[in-house]
Amino acid sequence: MHSDHSPSILKQCIAILHSRATSIHKLKQIHAFSIKHGVSLNNPDMGKHLLFSLVSLSAPMSYAHKIFKQIDSPNIFTWNTMIRGYAESQNPKPAMDIHRSMRSFAVEPDTHTYPFLLKAIARLITVKEGEEVHSIATKNGFGSLVFVQNGLVHMYAVCGRAESAHKLFEEMSERNLVTWNSVINGFVLNGRPNETLTLYRDMIDEQVEPDGFTLVSLLTACAELGALALGKRVHVYMSKVGLAENPHAANALLDLYSKTGNIKEAHKVFDEMKDKSVVSWTTLIVGLAMNGFGNESINLFKELERKKLTPSEITFVGVLYACSHCGLVDEGFTYLKRMKEEYKIEPRIEHHGCMVDLLGRSGHVQQAYDYIINMPLQPNAVIWRTLLGACTIHGHTGLAEFARAKLIELEPNHSGDYVLLSNLYASERRWSDVSKVREKMLANGVQKSPGHSLVELGNRVYQFVMGDTSNPQNEEIYTKLNEMTRLLRLEGYVPHVVNVLADIEEEEKETALSYHSEKIAIAFMLINTPNGMPIRVVKNLRVCADCHLAIKLVSKVYGREIVVRDRSRFHHFKDGFCSCKDYW
Ligand code: ZN
Ligand code: ZN
Repeated sequence: MHSDHSPSILKQCIAILHSRATSIHKLKQIHAFSIKHGVSLNNPDMGKHLLFSLVSLSAPMSYAHKIFKQIDSPNIFTWNTMIRGYAESQNPKPAMDIHRSMRSFAVEPDTHTYPFLLKAIARLITVKEGEEVHSIATKNGFGSLVFVQNGLVHMYAVCGRAESAHKLFEEMSERNLVTWNSVINGFVLNGRPNETLTLYRDMIDEQVEPDGFTLVSLLTACAELGALALGKRVHVYMSKVGLAENPHAANALLDLYSKTGNIKEAHKVFDEMKDKSVVSWTTLIVGLAMNGFGNESINLFKELERKKLTPSEITFVGVLYACSHCGLVDEGFTYLKRMKEEYKIEPRIEHHGCMVDLLGRSGHVQQAYDYIINMPLQPNAVIWRTLLGACTIHGHTGLAEFARAKLIELEPNHSGDYVLLSNLYASERRWSDVSKVREKMLANGVQKSPGHSLVELGNRVYQFVMGDTSNPQNEEIYTKLNEMTRLLRLEGYVPHVVNVLADIEEEEKETALSYHSEKIAIAFMLINTPNGMPIRVVKNLRVCADCHLAIKLVSKVYGREIVVRDRSRFHHFKDGFCSCKDYW
């Protein structure tokens, strides 16, 4: 021991740590230097500073932990450093162990402990532990500090407890931008876009300036709701405050325009982006494919390859979907092969699903079945449902029954499959089978999810259900619906007989006074928007054949472009035609 020199050497070490600890390599040198000169890590200053510097540089936690173990009685600062290090590392789990052993040494958490701990819990999605920490914080009197509360709101939001996050948020006497972002994001993460928009309005009312995080959440909610006008205003705001170039915000914008069927605008955002990541390329490739622009999607993929970018597995879902939509069977198989061999991406169930769809859609139903039997993964319900759908369209009763048997095994309570099968029977006029399926469906207690349609007008998103009479403009809407029916009949519209007779679609059959929600929504928009303005509808179920035909004719008779996003795809109606080419 060079104990005589230690104090000055120690000072020197700490000074170097403060001024020149710029890399993990340098820290290791300082560590070695201190050992050589007999400065123990147990010297309270040395150990804690070295550890703090390591964690700040995101050094491997295994190394940090080795240093930590040499410190005999770590103080709260050191414990916190370790919790923070793990919370921010690849594997946050040990943060919880550190917290537990800290408490077993009777060291109580301080204000800095909670945010790190809650961050680790949020990443691990272990809400039970989160609730424990919440009660410890309250007991210790830290529960009312804004940054502890922020950590709690974030933790609850990420762990799927949007309500708890919101409750805590309401109780907070002091809120900052981080608080707002956490609670807003919580509703987005938990699929509650309406609440997201409401909170955003409250935030603006309270004159809190949004940042990039807020806007990404907001754009995600707009995309979900099809709230294009609000999304566009967010876009304008982003350009004004210089956030349009933030890559995350720009990708969210791209996603918004793709998901609202505004593919031209999506393309424009993409072209103007300076920082195009693979995520940006993928968003547009998938967006084009889902909107029925299969060829454009494939061309964009080719451009991505010319730029020597590496596509992801999601990029390939888009490409395969595009091939399926365009009936490009051979190309689809070539892309699947290249994905495996050139890009070393193992096909996931989604890719196999695209291949089954590709074969089934193009009428190769038997090959689709063979593909399923030979694929290396266990086929899931989506795969069998895709086959069932193909059987329905191309009339393959034997395979349809087989697919359904598989579906009953996998998902006994999914209503959509009963619907598909009964439609198949209906198309073959096997009415007794239709009623048998229907009886079974009722006996098994399968509930069809109620259909609804969303449209955006002014600052609001309006929701309509079948036969809706709740809107204040109810009378006008039904007058418009009658006018629509009259004008459509002049165009040769007759209600789609098969489905009406079968009396079983995803929704109940329409009667003259009980229209499906998308028709009501369209009537509402025809009344309230100027001539020539496109109409956008988001529907939670598949559009039925009757509504599909009616909307095609509405687009022609009223000279309106109508974009309907239903459960599985986009329909761009224009001049009496639909982009899906009646195949959906
Ligand atoms: Zn319908
Ligand atoms: Zn269509």
